[in-house]
Amino acid sequence: MSKNVVVIGGGIIGLCSAYYLQKEGHQVTIVDQSNLDAGASYVNAGYLSPSHIIPLSAPGVMKKGLKWMFDKSSPLYIKPRLNIDFLKWTWAFNKSCNQNHVDKVAPVIRDISVLSQELYTDIKAQEKFNFHYEKKGLLMLCQTEKMLEEEVHTAKLASQLGLSAREVSSEEIKVLDANVQIDALGAAYFECDQHTTPHEFMTEMKAYLRSVGVEFYPNEKVIDLEVSKNTISSIKTDKQVLKADEFVLAAGSWSDMLSKKLGIKLLLQAGKGYRINTEKDTGISIPAILCEAKVAVTPMNGFTRFAGTMEIAGINHNINKIRVDAIARAAKKYYPNVQLTEDEKGNAECGLRPVSPDGLPYIGKSQKCKNLTVAAGHAMMGWSMGTATGKLVSEIISEQKTSLELSSYHPDRKF
Ligand SMILES: Cc1cc2nc3c(=O)[nH]c(=O)nc-3n(C[C@H](O)[C@H](O)[C@H](O)COP(=O)(O)OP(=O)(O)OC[C@H]3O[C@@H](n4cnc5c(N)ncnc54)[C@H](O)[C@@H]3O)c2cc1C
Repeated sequence: MSKNVVVIGGGIIGLCSAYYLQKEGHQVTIVDQSNLDAGASYVNAGYLSPSHIIPLSAPGVMKKGLKWMFDKSSPLYIKPRLNIDFLKWTWAFNKSCNQNHVDKVAPVIRDISVLSQELYTDIKAQEKFNFHYEKKGLLMLCQTEKMLEEEVHTAKLASQLGLSAREVSSEEIKVLDANVQIDALGAAYFECDQHTTPHEFMTEMKAYLRSVGVEFYPNEKVIDLEVSKNTISSIKTDKQVLKADEFVLAAGSWSDMLSKKLGIKLLLQAGKGYRINTEKDTGISIPAILCEAKVAVTPMNGFTRFAGTMEIAGINHNINKIRVDAIARAAKKYYPNVQLTEDEKGNAECGLRPVSPDGLPYIGKSQKCKNLTVAAGHAMMGWSMGTATGKLVSEIISEQKTSLELSSYHPDRKF
């Protein structure tokens, strides 16, 4: 049965939800407070990376976070705040930082990101999209023995989960990425990973959705929801009232502010990250993570992107020059011939990752509302999980059997 569906948020999750919903014959409207051209879904590193089976909430991360709290250039920064939502999130995050939790969620992360990779491939073929999309794997470059040991351990775990991953020596790194000098002791090489140029996919997807009749309301903020008997009857934006049969909450880092109005308490914090682009020919052809510095490097279409930092410090888009400098310094440390310029650093942009406490997104309907599907909280994996999330959202609203088992993603789950 065809339904009217309003999707709140037009990032990767909102667009992919709209894509699969319209394919099922639903009438879809997307409302976004932005101009639909910036933020996390545009500045990300473009990885489709099942390799990231270890969530942020892993053993030792809280300790590292505490240590890094006083380092202005650290890749992870958790700003202490006397705010009840932040304190609840921190408590739940800390509770998830253990090996049992990692073992439990690793296969769940694998399944949704592998499905997503397949769906990106299908969309590209089916819609004849041209967005840049390559399968060259991901090198986890390490400069210290300790880090290499950790990464090789993760590669073994990934292999046990059926993902293609192995250790490579510094000699082999030179052969793999022959046109750039790399300073690394060794690496774990996740051949299972793919990469894209995000704005190309976003641009093509928006154009496609418009061409098939999806209605867009950019620069329009959803400010309230009208609810009776656990059902949303309409939403109020700063410009109009929109009615629909079903609603999708894909508002990224802002999702908890709207869910709160329905009594749905999503634990969510914004994790700011930055990207620096250079159009100079860096010679880099294989995506890499500079492990000690936690910087992601992606050869995109016509430029190389360096992305990093996770600043959990509330919702703001301030550019912290110290952290941008740290990303540029890391680039030079691993690629001695790559020097990012002041202009390139000055053009750095940021985006907010919607970070749940346990490394899994919220996908599904809460007991508190019959016609709202939540699709948020993808943290550092939203690009990798985008298409699969969209498909799941459409299956939920179309009342079909879902492609993946949903209990791990439940928006009402307890931590
Ligand atoms: C530097 C960086 C690198 C990253 N690299 C990768 C990577 O390589 N691979 C990967 O898988 N992931 C990566 N990520 C994470 C990924 O980008 C995010 O998880 C993903 O983009 C989140 O998508 P989203 O649609 O949920 O949120 P967003 O893209 O933030 O979209 C949410 C939208 O909702 C809108 N909105 C919010 N509130 C309202 C409201 N009240 N009314 C109307 N509209 C509203 C916002 O304007 C926004 O456009 C990276 C992120 C960053 C910052």
